[in-house]
This record gives sequence, C-alpha cells and structure tokens, in this order.
Amino acid sequence: MQFFNHLEFDNHEHVSFFTCSQTGLKAIIAIHNTNLGPALGGCRMWDYKDDEQALHDVLRLSKGMTYKAALADIPMGGGKSVIIGDPKREKTPNMMESMGKAVQKLAGNYIIAEDVGTCVEDMNELSKATNYVTGVYKNNKGSGDPSPTTAYGVFLGLKPTVKHRLKKESLQGLTVSVQGLGHVGYYLCKYLHEEGVKLYVCDIDDERVDAVVHEFGAVALPFYEIYDVKADIFAPCALGGILNDETIKRLKVSIVAGAANNPLEAPHHGTMLSNHDILYAPDYVINSGGLIRVYHEYAANQGTLFSEKNILDHVKKIPLKLEKIFAYADQHGISTATAADALAEKIFKKRE
Ligand code: NAD
Repeated sequence: MQFFNHLEFDNHEHVSFFTCSQTGLKAIIAIHNTNLGPALGGCRMWDYKDDEQALHDVLRLSKGMTYKAALADIPMGGGKSVIIGDPKREKTPNMMESMGKAVQKLAGNYIIAEDVGTCVEDMNELSKATNYVTGVYKNNKGSGDPSPTTAYGVFLGLKPTVKHRLKKESLQGLTVSVQGLGHVGYYLCKYLHEEGVKLYVCDIDDERVDAVVHEFGAVALPFYEIYDVKADIFAPCALGGILNDETIKRLKVSIVAGAANNPLEAPHHGTMLSNHDILYAPDYVINSGGLIRVYHEYAANQGTLFSEKNILDHVKKIPLKLEKIFAYADQHGISTATAADALAEKIFKKRE
C-alpha cells in the first residue's frame, strides 16, 4: 500500500491507526491541516472492501474538511475518521467508547462528529471516553444531529445555483433527482417538497424510499437509473466518487448540487461537468451546514454562547459563498470545483 506517495496523501499532518481487540475496533484518524485550528470532522463507519479503500476514503474526506472549514469562515482545521466494519452488524456501544479513547489520545488535535454509519447516539457513547466530541445529544451539552442543518444549507445553496444557471428566482416547479435518502437526503426532500419541487429519488434501502414517496410524493427510481433521469438538478446525498467518466455522460440535468462529500471521482470531473454545461455547486461549500452546527457546539463548550440564531445566520452565508465561487470561476474561465479550491487555499495556506 502506498502511504506518503498515496494519491490523496497531500501532506497530511498526522494519520493514526487504532485497534482494540476487545471491542473489534479498527479505525483510522486523519488530520490534514491545522493551520486554522484543531481538526474537526466526522467519523464514517463503512464495510470497506479492504484497508486501502478505507485509507483512500479517510484521506480524501479529511482534506475536504480543511477546505470546508476555510470557506465557511470556521477557525478549525480538517480531519476525519473511519471505522472499518458494517455499522448495521458490527457496531456496538463498547466499540464507540473505544473510538472515544482513540480520539482522546490525540489530545484535542482532532474533534469528532457523526458521518455516514454513525449517529448522535454513537457520539454520546464516545463522550464517555473523550471530551473532544461534537454532535452529541442536546441534554449532554450537545447540539444534536447536524443533518437537518446540512440539508437546510444545501436547500439554501440551491437558490443562487438555480439563479446562476437557470436564471430563475425560485425552485418552485423544478425537478430534482436525489440519490440517498438518509439523514441529510430525507430532510432535503422535505424542504424541496415544501417549496413545490417534483422529486425523483433512489436509495439502496427500500424503507427509506417508501418513506419519501409516501410523505413527499416523490417518484422512486431503481438506484442505477438515477443518472439517466431528465431533471433540472441532480442532488447526490449518498457516498462519494459517483461522478466519473461514465456517469457524467449519462446526466440530463443542468445542475449538480447535493450533500455528498467528494461526489467527483477525480479532480478532472469538475471540468468535465462544466464542459457538459452542468453547473456544479462544490460539495464542501454547499454541505457545510453540519460543520457549522458542530463548530458552534464546540465553541460553546469552549465558553462562547450557544445560539440557534447564530447557527442559522452562519448557514445563511452559504448562498453568498457560492455566488462568489461562481463569479470567480466565470472570471477565470475555470470550473467551479477549481475555483472553490483556489479560494479555500488562499485562506488556509496564508497561515503557513
Ligand atoms: P446516511 O448514512 O444517513 O445516508 C446515506 C444514504 O445513502 C443511506 O440511506 C444509504 O442507504 C444510501 N446509499 C448508499 N449507497 C447508495 C447508492 N449507491 N445509491 C443510492 N443510495 C445509496 O448519511 P448522511 O449523514 O445522510 O450523509 C450523506 C452524505 O452527505 C455523505 O456523503 C456525507 O459524508 C455527507 N454529509 C453529511 C453531513 C451530515 O450532516 N450528516 C454533512 C456534510 C456532508
């Protein structure tokens, strides 16, 4: 396995591996960059096909958090963790507590939260062993599940994206295809339905599809057809790496904007989207609502006042960030993905 020469290594400051024979924990914590502050990022639990896939995922996700915090005006660095295993079959409270011990060993250089395969309850278990955890229950000095805030940020971010690409002031009457109806995808469908949007949806979990069809009148599609449906917007809200040379050619949408981290398989796919006249709202900008929420929780535990209004005011800046990125991309003749990276690097690299 490549390490320092790994394609996604990108000068990570710190990567640690943790195991616990008693609880079965196998985890990697990656800290990409702490120029702006301690690294804050979620913990993904996934049944990776091998260790290499887990390493690839954690490095990419961790790097994305550095860029996300920088553009969201959050004085934190980028980090992420993965637990190798099937969350449905292998996760136990004891395993979460031993993950908490692992986080504690990093002495506050990494602060954990939830991601795919982990939830508020897991963060509560972690909090038995570490102080460096966010996204815990409100009655445990926490701010609860960040996912509805992420979904709201995506919803707000769709408005300037639609205005820029479709020259429309409202989302009403548009069609949106949503891939993944989990913690974020569900709430995004709710907000879109309330706005008068027609939904095409898919998930590999039939129960989640049934809920969204029943509650929001969505049209269900087999998961492999989501790239082929004609819609105004495609909102990826499942896993990363799904937009590649093959799937981008199939898209019949004007916009790609959703919650999923790293939907582009490789950097050139940002350019490929713009060459196909598809406006891409960079993932780590439009999905930064959850980070904003857990950051406010972290800051409150450091002594600042916790306020839902402050969180909302902060999330409402997402549309302005996107407008700035779209303008920068147009001005320099580059893709929006490249523009976002350039603007983020101006912020966190200035501190080097
Ligand atoms: P989740 O695990 O609750 O939901 C993911 C959903 O995607 C699940 O329902 C799963 O069955 C489905 N899925 C997996 N593979 C699929 C496929 N091939 N086709 C269709 N559906 C598939 O996770 P989440 O918290 O909703 O996060 C979704 C995405 O958003 C992830 O990429 C995550 O990293 C990102 N994100 C989440 C947050 C947050 O606040 N939860 C914040 C920022 C970014």
